[in-house]
Amino acid sequence: MGEPRTTASTCCYCGVGCGVLIDSVGDRIVGVRGDPHHPANAGKLCSKGLSLALTAQSTAGRALHPSWRPQRGAPLQPVEWESAFDHVATRLAEIVRRHGPDAVAFYVSGQLLTEDYYIFNKLAKGLVGTNNIDTNSRLCMSSAVTGYKLSLGADGPPTCYEDLDHAHTVLIAGSNMAYAHPVLYRRLEAAREARPGTRWIVVDPRRTDTAAMADLHLQIQPGTDVALFNGMLHHLIWEGWLDHGHIAGHTEGFDAVKRIVRDTTPAAAAAVCGISERDLCQAAEWFARSPATLSLYCMGLNQSSHGTDKNLALVNLHLATGQIGRAGAGPFSLTGQPNAMGGREVGGMATMLAAHRDIGNAAHRAEVAAFWKVDAVSGRPGLAAVDMFDALAAGKVKAVWIVCTNPAHSLPRIEAVRQALRRAELVVVQEAYADTDTVAFADVLLPAASWGEKDGTVTNSERRISRVRAAIAPPGEARADWRIAAEIGRRMQRLLKPDAPDLFPYQTPREIFDEHRALTQGRDLDIGGLDYDILEARGPQQWPFPAGSAQGLARRYVDRRYATESGRACFQPVSYRPVAVATSPRYPFHLTTGRLRDQWHGMSRTGRLAQAFSHAPEPTLDMHPADAARRGLSDGDLVQVESRDGALVLPLRLTEDLASGTVFAAMHWNGQFMNSGGVNEVCNAAVDGKSFQPELKHTAVRIDKAELGWRVRAAIDVDGQEEALARRAALQPLLAACGYAALGLRAAGDRTVLALTAALAAPDEAWLGALAEALDMGAGPDVLDYRDRRQGVRKCARWQADRLLAFVLAGDVAQAEALLARLAAGKPWEGSRLRVFTPDAAPVVRDRTVCQCKGVAASAINAAIARGADVAALKATLGCGTVCGSCVPELSRMCGASRMSA
Ligand code: SF4
Repeated sequence: MGEPRTTASTCCYCGVGCGVLIDSVGDRIVGVRGDPHHPANAGKLCSKGLSLALTAQSTAGRALHPSWRPQRGAPLQPVEWESAFDHVATRLAEIVRRHGPDAVAFYVSGQLLTEDYYIFNKLAKGLVGTNNIDTNSRLCMSSAVTGYKLSLGADGPPTCYEDLDHAHTVLIAGSNMAYAHPVLYRRLEAAREARPGTRWIVVDPRRTDTAAMADLHLQIQPGTDVALFNGMLHHLIWEGWLDHGHIAGHTEGFDAVKRIVRDTTPAAAAAVCGISERDLCQAAEWFARSPATLSLYCMGLNQSSHGTDKNLALVNLHLATGQIGRAGAGPFSLTGQPNAMGGREVGGMATMLAAHRDIGNAAHRAEVAAFWKVDAVSGRPGLAAVDMFDALAAGKVKAVWIVCTNPAHSLPRIEAVRQALRRAELVVVQEAYADTDTVAFADVLLPAASWGEKDGTVTNSERRISRVRAAIAPPGEARADWRIAAEIGRRMQRLLKPDAPDLFPYQTPREIFDEHRALTQGRDLDIGGLDYDILEARGPQQWPFPAGSAQGLARRYVDRRYATESGRACFQPVSYRPVAVATSPRYPFHLTTGRLRDQWHGMSRTGRLAQAFSHAPEPTLDMHPADAARRGLSDGDLVQVESRDGALVLPLRLTEDLASGTVFAAMHWNGQFMNSGGVNEVCNAAVDGKSFQPELKHTAVRIDKAELGWRVRAAIDVDGQEEALARRAALQPLLAACGYAALGLRAAGDRTVLALTAALAAPDEAWLGALAEALDMGAGPDVLDYRDRRQGVRKCARWQADRLLAFVLAGDVAQAEALLARLAAGKPWEGSRLRVFTPDAAPVVRDRTVCQCKGVAASAINAAIARGADVAALKATLGCGTVCGSCVPELSRMCGASRMSA
């Protein structure tokens, strides 16, 4: 045990960067609360942040010891740190000597701390001499980076969170903020409540919970954003709603933009986008004529083969109307990951150098080389994420060191990524979790510390640098990411550059931060005046924060002097181009991807929590009912989703939130929970030509009914997270044999149920035997086992004392929901156990939990709404929406839907 402690830190999920207070006792995190003094969230947390403590309470599934495989295909075996360090350093140095520095690549993560990022960047560019270091931020924000640089002259948003309070018109483009940035979304809601008349325009091919709350939802065809923004600009020019003073005094290039939008009339743009001309013109008017217009945008713009152009077309609107550089106005890119910004600051990507310097700029390279005291920094362009794995597959890159990310799930065209990892001479995976899809390919696994165990800094979406502090020690032998990198770096330096001064002399993250901030001096993001002491004394601070400043800069370009050489912002003429891979008669559907409310990325953390599954228990493919009817498909059918790059099977969910012709799947599910790697199996690998960001938001697919006639459902009541993870690990190898399979957790009071849904083409006795064995369905007095081999039916159930503990249904799964409900209820079994095989009179319909914090189901909410309850009454009577508030958008929507149907 030990004394209770409270440690102020930062949430590890999204780019809002909420402050948290971690309560711990000894080496155990016992609670997480919002930090009322943190300017990003003022004490609020969303469902993900609020459940952080629950994800940190078990070391099950964690990578606890360094390990390696004696040969490919063998299981990982524990090894001493010293041996692991020497092995990785020696192998990498050998590959550099044999094949040159560009034969080595680093693939890191927007979840690393700035100090971790700094060391990896220095290791790659300073020691190895390659720019082959990229990050999963490439999948997230790189189009926003190129957009800002080309238009405003420097990376980073001009805006701050306070602008959400001051905006009179808010344009939300390609962002489901209600799910992806919930605490900011709540702030927007509060601002609209405080100033009725504030208008929200939401641009999204889906009617998300965010879009449902908009004053104007522009449900455009996927990938048509540039046409929309150019059509809006055409209308502004026609109506004369421009800020000529801003255009003439502070920008350049407007005439070229004017020429390029000349033919994009509102009618033409509306036709491309599939919306009405009236709505497009209305959006343009609200945008231009509002006292302050703020654009908030995210993956919907960035994850595109024309992501940079989408960003530029939107910034053009701000420049033309002068909606920038003042309270409540400006283009505000919301970062997806907790430290995508910090990674950019240290230059931890293949296309940039430290402190927003450019690889292509010889003077910048010389500055960095001199600062690091190395001979030179390579001017050869590094490989961005998709190209990096293609080069690995082609044998040009021989070794990859993957840190805190899961490319075998998160990159598009997963099978190509798997092939690349198989082809590599050396795959080093540095991870906190031992069971990600990428760990399966690791030759060496280096166990990393995770959230709650690490010390350093992160930068959130509004350029605010916050401290991340360790509340507990890392479990097992896990170590901080920067320590692992620095240790291997020192050993590589002895092998590659023994005479150079020590490149990695650090003992603490503070020393690394001090080196990083020195490199920023004189740059647009100058934090020469900021150090750990100021962060300790005055809390999180925004950049720039040059030496001599009392505080950072909240809002940039208020003097209308931009970060370009001329000081003028650059209009960029961009015209609409279709998506990279168009639909066709063979692949007629637009597939778009996105996030769920309560899951995060590849679920390595949130997938440990039963509560995180209650809102969306299984993966689905969402489709408009009219499309389904035309194909003879029904809700719940299993469908094959196939593209030119791959295929997977998903259960169909019908929804009118999508336009006909567009389908949607969530990005989170992967090989630990499914029989496939998830939706990226089918996503195409086309990238933006300027940002190299892949087009994860659009793939042309075909949808067919999956002929998988043999259905299986199984579940087991498990004793807490530890057993849930162990059971999931035991079942996971069985998934591969299925045409479709999904594992998920269900919260059942203070217990947890692990549930499997599977479908195979034909009965498979051996597979079923393995499943029954994994659920301890051996013979015994507490097991009932019914088999009809001729029909392919098996039903077995196991009790403990008077409680049903587990069941398997194969070939006839009609009872599954009823048995799951019984398992979840945990009540004593009444009557004959034989009733377990008898269908209930009334079929049990699966309910969905809307409020995770209070465990309130959709059925209870709908019943209250039918009795006349509004959101306030729902909160008062059922308690839903009263803790983190993440479900409030859905509650509002449910109330609104009910009003419309009345
Ligand atoms: Fe974490 Fe939620 Fe805040 Fe994002 S909004 S930082 S996920 S608590």
